[in-house]
This record gives sequence, structure tokens and C-alpha cells, in this order.
Amino acid sequence: MSRITPQPGIMDIELYVGGKATVEGVSDVVKLSSNENPYGCSDAAKAVHAKSGHNLHRYPSTDHSDLRVVIGEVHGLDASRIICGAGSDEILQFITQCYAGVGDEVVYTEHGFSMYPILARMVGAKPVKVAERERVVDVDAILAACTKKTKIVFIANPANPTGTMVGGNEMARLADSLPDGCILVQDGAYAEFVDGFDGGASLIESRDNVVMTRTFSKIYGLGGLRIGWGYGPQAMIDVLNRVRQPFNLSTVQLSVAEAAMRDQAFVAKCRADNARMRAWLAEALAELGVPSDTSCANFILARFVDQAEAEACDDYLKSQGLLVRRVTGYGLPNCLRITVGDEASCRRVAHAVGQFKGGAR
Ligand code: PMP
Repeated sequence: MSRITPQPGIMDIELYVGGKATVEGVSDVVKLSSNENPYGCSDAAKAVHAKSGHNLHRYPSTDHSDLRVVIGEVHGLDASRIICGAGSDEILQFITQCYAGVGDEVVYTEHGFSMYPILARMVGAKPVKVAERERVVDVDAILAACTKKTKIVFIANPANPTGTMVGGNEMARLADSLPDGCILVQDGAYAEFVDGFDGGASLIESRDNVVMTRTFSKIYGLGGLRIGWGYGPQAMIDVLNRVRQPFNLSTVQLSVAEAAMRDQAFVAKCRADNARMRAWLAEALAELGVPSDTSCANFILARFVDQAEAEACDDYLKSQGLLVRRVTGYGLPNCLRITVGDEASCRRVAHAVGQFKGGAR
């Protein structure tokens, strides 16, 4: 027995397994397993990235003020209440680290994003999983599960992997009914895919217990660069900044993110293209006997007859070079999560599912 033991909870953490990008023996592979932007990122962001080789010997800004000001301008938010990090994962980690600890409870929902229980265990808190109602977050069930020990409630809105949403009034009711000292985290990784949605920012203005996280990894097409941000009450942002490493974002991350944020025309085009292809793919799959809930994000949760059919379809898609996501770990064994790709990829998926359903396996 080693005398060196990790902190309580660490050995209960299941390793996060990311989506693969290759299939052995297949050359023409399309990755539709990580909700990435099929159109890449903005040309303006690429141009800044190409020029970002100079000044690499200089440390980056510690306070990210230029990026925060641009984010604030674009979203109509107070830049001093924005915090930036290496992906929204890092912001979620700051929140958990600062507000939950050993003996506390962290609430998330049945099909919630897999990082939430990992984050809870990272700080020795107990992850509490709450049932959803037909793949939609159930506010009453969450409130029933909260105790005096509950310090954080995580809700992705839209949710991953279901693609469903909780309405603004329901979110407000939840925020206002939480136990004292409990924070509502609105994870807005997919917020930009919903036309006119502010990610829950308006809910934050009049409350001290609500925070929002956002990312450049999805609609901005910059998953490889690792940039995210959060917005919350000033007091909370001041707390989070205490655990943030002074140079947590590089000069390259900061300058490329700034250019990407300024290019809202690219974002609007991606939102429209995603909505069009999402509707097309959902309908095409439904016609093949594979239904899905109305998705508000950049993926579809395709429902199969049972786990065996979902897995067989996944295997067939893989053999055709189409990588999608099994979501058994999210309590959805009969489903596959398929990122909405460009038109050619969506047609390939529909064609392959058609062949699978037709028995050409
Ligand atoms: N929240 C949700 C709901 C997600 O799906 C993801 C990415 N899979 C993240 C947060 C984290 O994204 P990132 O760290 O790339 O910003």
C-alpha cells in the first residue's frame, strides 16, 4: 500500500474521454462527435492567429481587459464583471473550487454535462444527480433535491446532450427558490445557437446567486484554442479571480478570441446555417424512423429502438467514416448524439442511417 494517497473523491472520478478524430482503415472521416463548428472559425480570427508569432517572449495580459471590453460591448455587459479562462471548463472549475468543498453537495441533472460530477468530486463535494422529465430539466425535482449542504446547481441551457432548454421564468423561479448560499450556474456553451437568447445574463442583474459561463469552442469554432468566459455578480467575479492563475490565457488565445468576438457576422451566419441543417437532419432521420426532440443547439439526440440498435448504428456509421457520440454515460443508452455538420456531412449521415435502417449493414 502506498503512503501517498490523493484527496477524498479523486479516485471516484471517471476519466473524461474526448471524441476521437480518426477511424482505422477509413480515410474520409467526418467528426460529428464533439459539437464543433463544421465551418471552422472566422477568417478574421484566422488572420490574427497567422500573425501571432511575434512578441511570444512577452507575458500576456493578466487581467484580459481588452478581450473583456470587446465581450462586454458585443453582449451589452459590464466588462468588470466578466472573467476569462481556458475554455468554459476552467470557469466552471473556478466556481466549484471557490464555492464547494468537502461535505457539500453539488446538484446536476440526470442527463447533465459529464464534467459537473467530475468538478464536484475534484473538490471533495458530493455530486447529486436529479431526474429529468422526458429529457428536460425539472426545476421542481431540483428544488426537492436541494438541502442546506447544496452549494451549486449546474444547468446547461441549452443542455448537452439533450439539446432541450429551460425557459427564463423557470430559471428565475429556480434561482429565487434555492437554499441560502447556493449558486445557480447557467452553462451557456450552446447559447449562441438560440437566436436572441442572452444565456441568462438578464437573470444575473438582479441577483447575487446566479452566474453564467460561455465558450469560444462551439459557435466560434475555436475549441482547439481553449477560451471561455463567465459573467456574474461583481462580488462573485472578484472571488473567482483569486483562484485564476495570473497568466491563464496566452497572448495568442487573447488576440484570436478578440477578433472572433468582433466578427458577429460569422456568428450570425453559423447560427442560421446550423438552424437550417439541424431542421433538415432531424426531419431526414425522423422519416427513417429515428426521432429526436427539438434541439436548440448544434447537435441532435437521435433516439433508436434500444441500446443494441443505437450501438449497431454507431458501428455502421463509423465504418462509413462518420463519428458520432454514444451517450450511455449520460443515461441515454438508446441514443446517439450527432453534431449538425455542413450540408454534405448531414446528407452523408442521413444516407448512412438510411442504409443501416434498410438492412445494408
Ligand atoms: N458545457 C457544456 C454543456 C459543454 O458541452 C462543454 C463542451 N463539451 C463545455 C461546457 C466545455 O466547453 P469548453 O471548455 O470547450 O468551453
